[in-house]
Amino acid sequence: MNAFKTLDSENPVDLARWHELERIMSDAMKNDYFKMVYQPLLSLGTGQLVGFESLIRCQSPRFGIVGPDEFIPHVEQSGMILELGDWIFEQSLSDLKQMLNFGMTGITVSLNISPVQILNGNIFSRVMHLLDKHQIPPSAIKIELTETALIHSPEKIEKVFENFHKEGVKVWLDDFGTGYASLGLLRQFNIDGLKIDRSFVNGIATNNEDFTLCSAIIAMAQRLGLETVAEGIEENEQLQILEQLGCDIAQGYLIDKPQSLARNVAKWAK
Ligand code: C2E
Ligand code: CA
Ligand code: CA
Repeated sequence: MNAFKTLDSENPVDLARWHELERIMSDAMKNDYFKMVYQPLLSLGTGQLVGFESLIRCQSPRFGIVGPDEFIPHVEQSGMILELGDWIFEQSLSDLKQMLNFGMTGITVSLNISPVQILNGNIFSRVMHLLDKHQIPPSAIKIELTETALIHSPEKIEKVFENFHKEGVKVWLDDFGTGYASLGLLRQFNIDGLKIDRSFVNGIATNNEDFTLCSAIIAMAQRLGLETVAEGIEENEQLQILEQLGCDIAQGYLIDKPQSLARNVAKWAK
């Protein structure tokens, strides 16, 4: 039996690939084949940069590039996400400190967290410790957790969110609209914002249902006092529709792909 509390295996996986991932991940961990990249977030109201989402990458000379969509579920299952998650926070916060030092004041960095980190690790005190170590105000980071993760151990998650709130760290619900969480959870969890899933943004200009879903999510969020972020914007038309609907923040390849710290500093620091 695995000692870690993990998520139910929701998707059938290719067993051979799953075992191969075990080798790839331990090899990557030993040899530092992970790196962080950052994707800009723009205010739709002002057009200004408001922050970045921090995203992990894995590239090994032997196994090539492996995407986080594939390896994050694996490290969640094996428990390695605890060690890797610590590394992600350390790297992201030390990079954020550099951005602030380069004069990019007023920005925030959003950290993706796994529910396994909440269930097994002392995520709140680890993050607070790192903020202190790097002398970063808590309001300069945001936490992203997927909607689906909320249904695993809601009491524990509620408590962790509450702790972050008290310190001024905002929480965004990721991939909103794709999971099974009920709308009632939005009230229970003191959420600050919703990230509208890419799959809805994708069809916003061409598919009536996607348009209706996006406009309903934005209208609901406004009534509840929540911020909205649209992810996966690839076309100007999508951006314009989202702006008209009153969406607050935009993210997607149209603005930029996730890039290294150096590329982002060169592009955005004034
Ligand atoms: P996510 O949190 O929903 O991240 C957004 C994903 O959409 C990223 O994929 C990003 O590169 C991609 N994306 C952004 N704009 C566009 C666009 O315009 N078009 C398209 N086609 N894609 C776009 P990525 O980096 O491959 O990450 C996939 C997922 O892996 C993330 O989804 C997140 O669930 C997980 N992940 C990534 N980094 C981390 C991490 O540091 N920690 C944890 N726990 N999970 C992570
Ligand atoms: Ca995210
Ligand atoms: Ca997302």
